[in-house]
Amino acid sequence: MEKLSNYVSYCGLYCKLCSFIALIPKQARALMETMRKGGWEYFGEYEFPEFKDFWKLLGKLSEFDKTVSGCRDSCGPPDCEIRRCAREHGVITCAFCPDFPCDLIREMDKKYPIIIKNLERQKEIGLEKWIEKQEKLAQAAHSYQEILKE
Ligand code: SF4
Ligand code: SF4
Repeated sequence: MEKLSNYVSYCGLYCKLCSFIALIPKQARALMETMRKGGWEYFGEYEFPEFKDFWKLLGKLSEFDKTVSGCRDSCGPPDCEIRRCAREHGVITCAFCPDFPCDLIREMDKKYPIIIKNLERQKEIGLEKWIEKQEKLAQAAHSYQEILKE
């Protein structure tokens, strides 16, 4: 049995390439740093009554790459139909479902036109190798925002 990364979503994405992990924490840290240097931590709430909540949220976003658990645990919509369906089918990802590619997956692929390609690749090379390749992309600071633009 292949060792399964927590960052492999049921629908064929790799969570570390999602903007929540790949981009937003870095950008939130950069904004916090700029604001800290400008003294916003001390006077922010005099400018904006919502500042404390904003600062708290920014702090959470800046740590998201360390705290987020990925799709297999709890990240993403709690009522995701694909997650529920994959669990009911008892498959590691949708690539290994006899009904792949179903309507749910085809719909999802319209929003993320990499889903079907990824799942087909998982079937072709196996999950372990596929994860290795995604890890390399993540370590080279790639993200779906940029991959999907290509
Ligand atoms: S929560 Fe659903 S849509 Fe989001 S990554 Fe996981 S399986 Fe895909
Ligand atoms: S029916 Fe579709 S969504 Fe459900 S497990 Fe199979 S491929 Fe995934």
